[in-house]
Amino acid sequence: MKTKQILVLGSNFGGATAALELQRKLKGLAKVTVLSPNPNFTFIPSMIWVPFGRRKLSDISFPIRPLMEKKGIQFIQDNALQVNPEKNEVVTEKNGTLAYDYLIVSTGIQMDFNVVENLHPENGMIENIVIPKYGERAYKRFQELKQNPGPVVVGATQGASCMGAAYEYLFNMDKELRRQKIRDKVDLVWFTPEPYLGHFGIGGITGGQSMLEAFMKMYNIKWYTNASVAKIEKEQITLKDGTVLPYKMSMIMPPFIGTEAMKHSPQLVDEKGFVVCNEGYQHINYKNVYGVGLAVEVLAPFKCVVPFGVPKTGFPTEVSAKIAVKNIVNEVKGTGSFEKRSWGKIPAVCVMDAGHKEVIIFGDHLFRPRKFAVMIPNIFNDWTKLLIEKYFLFKFKRGLAMLP
Ligand SMILES: Cc1cc2nc3c(=O)[nH]c(=O)nc-3n(C[C@H](O)[C@H](O)[C@H](O)COP(=O)(O)OP(=O)(O)OC[C@H]3O[C@@H](n4cnc5c(N)ncnc54)[C@H](O)[C@@H]3O)c2cc1C
Repeated sequence: MKTKQILVLGSNFGGATAALELQRKLKGLAKVTVLSPNPNFTFIPSMIWVPFGRRKLSDISFPIRPLMEKKGIQFIQDNALQVNPEKNEVVTEKNGTLAYDYLIVSTGIQMDFNVVENLHPENGMIENIVIPKYGERAYKRFQELKQNPGPVVVGATQGASCMGAAYEYLFNMDKELRRQKIRDKVDLVWFTPEPYLGHFGIGGITGGQSMLEAFMKMYNIKWYTNASVAKIEKEQITLKDGTVLPYKMSMIMPPFIGTEAMKHSPQLVDEKGFVVCNEGYQHINYKNVYGVGLAVEVLAPFKCVVPFGVPKTGFPTEVSAKIAVKNIVNEVKGTGSFEKRSWGKIPAVCVMDAGHKEVIIFGDHLFRPRKFAVMIPNIFNDWTKLLIEKYFLFKFKRGLAMLP
């Protein structure tokens, strides 16, 4: 049998999981190559701690090439510019054109800063915690706030989908302000496109709304739901209903869209640049192309007054990568089986850091209808989130992607 060329775009949660599992399951049958501009694996969920100095980027990142090469996977540090699925080729920035028999797209997202003017952190008004270098910038801004306290506004724009991380940042902001003994000098405000607190883009979880409202009251945080941003100015945010929110420091989560490379691959993506796949994470038209994690189109199963999207968290990212791998392995080995599980039917497994507390979320499905879903508060500390960080860094550093 001819060795199959399998190309994986991206090397974080989805890409690393896919490449390691392909190599383990298809040793001798496939040559696995990973293409990614980022030389490091970064445990993104801990980015919420970088702006407060609880973590440095170096604590939550490690070089990915040595691991890949140790496992027999080729690693090319470069950017994909475009996929040409008719020719089974990927155009790269520095390495010309790479051919593939199978392609896994795991390029994550870029942020749509155009949703409101001045949202981009480079404009110097609003902070961001998604991109590591901006997380470090937010840390510097927080040091300034400590010297000269004033109102803090945290929120998510219309069309956003990663509200969970913004909630975590908000609660950690409260915790740090209290630790610095300046909480009484800071008015803390939260706004969200969700119709109620704790919808999270998954239709909420029983008890979640009242739990989050209790946290907000306990921490003295004022909140606005069904919010959309009309204008961002220096030290002032105006919502579309006319509410004016003054700020000295603000972090606002923008909407996510597909990466430039995927936007330049129109045969594969929807209008937002997300790869359009079936329930086996296989492209609907190009059967040798798969999409996993943040790069995949997941349609929201709800309609709300203000539009917003579905969160694509780490657990379903890994599940989608493992399903894509199984389907490629099945085809290469000719088993004739094809595994399917839609995004919404993947179990909900997540921990939300709530500052001095945390909430553990479990459900049989991410989206309703569900047989069960629970939110278990840990009112003493955020140990579960810490343990998860340690576990995932241990697992990925050793290439143990077969573990849950
Ligand atoms: C602040 C924050 C907090 C979060 N907290 C949690 C949490 O607590 N729990 C949880 O489960 N999830 C959380 N998430 C979500 C989680 O981080 C994602 O689910 C996960 O990172 C998705 O993995 P991915 O591989 O699909 O994308 P990413 O992790 O974004 O990786 C994308 C990869 O693609 C590469 N790439 C980009 N462009 C190209 C290109 N042109 N060519 C080749 N490669 C490219 C990048 O270098 C990177 O290696 C959080 C997200 C954020 C932003």
